[in-house]
Amino acid sequence: MPELPEVETIKLGLQKKIVGLKITKIQINSAKSFIGNPNLVEGKKVLNIWRKAKYLGVDVVPANAGIQLKKSRSELDSRLRGNDNFVTLLFHLKMTGQLIYEDGQRLVGGHPTPDMVGKMPNAHTRIIFSFSDGSHLYFNDQRKFGWVKAVDRGQVTVDSSLKNLGPEPLERGFTWQILKQNLLRHKSMPVKVATMDQTVVSGVGNIYSNEACFSAGLDPRVRVRDLNDEQFKKLYKGIIKSLKDGIKYGGSTRAHFVDAEGHKGYFLDYAYVYGRDKHPCKICGTKIKKIQLGGRGTYLCPNCQKGYNS
Ligand SMILES: [Zn+2]
Repeated sequence: MPELPEVETIKLGLQKKIVGLKITKIQINSAKSFIGNPNLVEGKKVLNIWRKAKYLGVDVVPANAGIQLKKSRSELDSRLRGNDNFVTLLFHLKMTGQLIYEDGQRLVGGHPTPDMVGKMPNAHTRIIFSFSDGSHLYFNDQRKFGWVKAVDRGQVTVDSSLKNLGPEPLERGFTWQILKQNLLRHKSMPVKVATMDQTVVSGVGNIYSNEACFSAGLDPRVRVRDLNDEQFKKLYKGIIKSLKDGIKYGGSTRAHFVDAEGHKGYFLDYAYVYGRDKHPCKICGTKIKKIQLGGRGTYLCPNCQKGYNS
């Protein structure tokens, strides 16, 4: 599943492409994949693209609304509140969702598959957004767990998907003390499993919880109640470092142009433990071990990661 860095990468890519364009048509091939009324979106222009946790939001306004794109987020929020002409398209890619934008070049994001560089639309294309400049955004989703939802802009922060999310790890205000306090709601859980709880911290899934534990030198199986403050601080730094590295290397999918280098050379090449079982640890050379923890594949260096006494 795409995590915070993957969705951030898609956001940054699309920001350069579709802000200011009008959405001329929405073609829905799978009714299950689109929630809400597409007529509220067609004919409107894209004002802004944002991310919250693993969700992507695309704000659209009437094409003649005359709202300056440069206005600050809070100014916009107050102008947009309670006006149902102002709609947000909320995207959640879940396990197999992909966003593919084509304007002659191609930008891809989400769950990587070989066919994401092939001809579009394909058999897994659920929704096609057409823009005023002739470009298209394809929402592909093999297993149809992902969705796009048209939400009233004023209601989006209280939408059931967003309202219970924990703090944004890369925003000011997220501190090691807040992380500690939230993790302590799960005292008997292994630290890695608790870190993946979206009410503890937003946007950290299986890849980046593995990497954060490695970065903190913490065995992912250590129970939350056994952590000391020094370890909470290290985990906090580890979460931020691994997410920032993920964004720096374009996430585990990497938004890229199809004529560049295919979908190779992404964050997973830079990962320390995730997906690297039986490979030597990049720090000490010990073989990385894969275990199952909370039903998810979990990777660790038995030498670098400490604190667990079985
Ligand atoms: Zn090691």
